[in-house]
Amino acid sequence: MDEMRVNDLASRFAAICGEAHVEAGDGIGPRYQSDWLGKAVSEPAIVVRPASTEEVAGVMKICAETRTPVIPFGGNSGLASGTIARAKDQVVMLSLERMNKVRRIDAPGRYMVAEAGCIIESLHHAAAAEGLMFPLVFGAKGTAQIGGALGTNAGGLNVVRYGSARALCLGLEVVTAGGEVMDLLPALKKNNTGYDLVNLMVGSEGTLGIITAASLKLVTPPHAFATAMVKVRDVEAALELMNMTQSRSGGQVEAFELIGKLMYELPVQYLDHVSPVFDEAPELAVLMELGAARPEDAAPGPDGTVALSALLESILADAFEAGLVEDAVIAQSEAQRANFWAMREGTLEAMQRHGPWVMNDISFQVSDLPGVIADMEAAFAAVAPGPFCVAFGHMGDGNLHINARPYDKDPKDHPEEEQAIKDAVRDIVIKWRGSISAEHGIGLDKQQDMKDLKDPVAYAMMKSIKQALDPDNLLNPGKVLM
Ligand SMILES: Cc1cc2nc3c(=O)[nH]c(=O)nc-3n(C[C@H](O)[C@H](O)[C@H](O)COP(=O)(O)OP(=O)(O)OC[C@H]3O[C@@H](n4cnc5c(N)ncnc54)[C@H](O)[C@@H]3O)c2cc1C
Repeated sequence: MDEMRVNDLASRFAAICGEAHVEAGDGIGPRYQSDWLGKAVSEPAIVVRPASTEEVAGVMKICAETRTPVIPFGGNSGLASGTIARAKDQVVMLSLERMNKVRRIDAPGRYMVAEAGCIIESLHHAAAAEGLMFPLVFGAKGTAQIGGALGTNAGGLNVVRYGSARALCLGLEVVTAGGEVMDLLPALKKNNTGYDLVNLMVGSEGTLGIITAASLKLVTPPHAFATAMVKVRDVEAALELMNMTQSRSGGQVEAFELIGKLMYELPVQYLDHVSPVFDEAPELAVLMELGAARPEDAAPGPDGTVALSALLESILADAFEAGLVEDAVIAQSEAQRANFWAMREGTLEAMQRHGPWVMNDISFQVSDLPGVIADMEAAFAAVAPGPFCVAFGHMGDGNLHINARPYDKDPKDHPEEEQAIKDAVRDIVIKWRGSISAEHGIGLDKQQDMKDLKDPVAYAMMKSIKQALDPDNLLNPGKVLM
């Protein structure tokens, strides 16, 4: 984009959003020049920060008129390079950060209407102030925005009970590629009027529209939690324990996270606020949590133990008898529970401190996990002697985050092994008919894999949808589809 065009667009955007909210050229802040992982350089031509839906629509109308591509920019915590601006695309980065108001909380209707730039954690606080809970939780909850989380259909730590972002979204307000506002905000639980455009927008990674607000489902918070870190015999045992706990608790499993040895060790090693749970790092652990749906499950029994904790204790005792569990620590205080969660939520940060990894976000049918993990372990061990962990992730959702470092060095220094690891993952995804992106999306990183592995009829249909909704390819160009 030449200087004249940049100046022209910048002054037109400034007339809508104010000069303080437009950056161009050397004035673009570092926040917009890289992704969270710091692995790619981002080079937007202009950054603009509208404060309202009308301002987003105004900016988008100018972009449509001038055929200028736009990248919707949320908390920039996405892990698929979805916000990266390639210099050749000459894009406007449209940040939703100023659209950060909760417009309404309807406690009797159990929903809230939040603007796209609201940080996930702020939504937790807003819901809690009304005695309710917004149950989307993941490690980047203090950074990610609801618009980005819906853009990627984020999952996280308690999808097993509440579903992913899509399941929590009852309605949307979206600015289209042409700068029109589509108002589908009413929080209707049933609405069979034609194609489901809310669901189409969720997970479209900013390629079909710009989410400006969402109606979000709220739930009654559990009356108490019972949380345990459990050393399990193997993956089959973890699966059996999960199903046994679901049955015995009447579906009150709030989270069931698989933690392989390395992913236990790294947070303990690198994060000051994380303490070890066991004397020795377990080969395989699960972090499991029950959430009491009924007040009586939160009431203390004759010996002072809360009913839910007593239930968890009895399930774990039976699992121990059955040889599924080798050791377990049930959190006795909120601080102990927080430590378990700090270990799980801090894994990515601890990994980053150790160095770069080959990472993955794949999913399988839950019952296939033991076979998948066995295949992965064999395949990775054959590639390189560096550390790896394949048994890690959201077991309740069949979602594994697989991490490896050939020769414990930057994978980039071992390109053949890096490729071999990626190939092994891909082959195993194909063999078990899994998905190459469970919750992080496609972005720039997984386009080829999606094109190769997606059902060809489905892929062609997605291209037709993109063509119909964004014929000039203005919204997040070059992402998701090739
Ligand atoms: C430490 C850490 C832990 C994480 N853990 C998890 C996890 O457990 N589960 C999980 O699912 N994800 C996890 N993630 C990644 C997660 O996808 C992102 O954190 C989040 O979903 C993206 O929100 P964001 O606001 O940062 O979006 P961004 O990174 O800014 O954007 C992500 C994508 O959405 C698009 N987008 C952004 N805003 C909008 C909008 N308003 N309208 C339309 N499109 C938009 C962007 O163009 C981009 O394609 C983790 C990330 C980190 C850093």
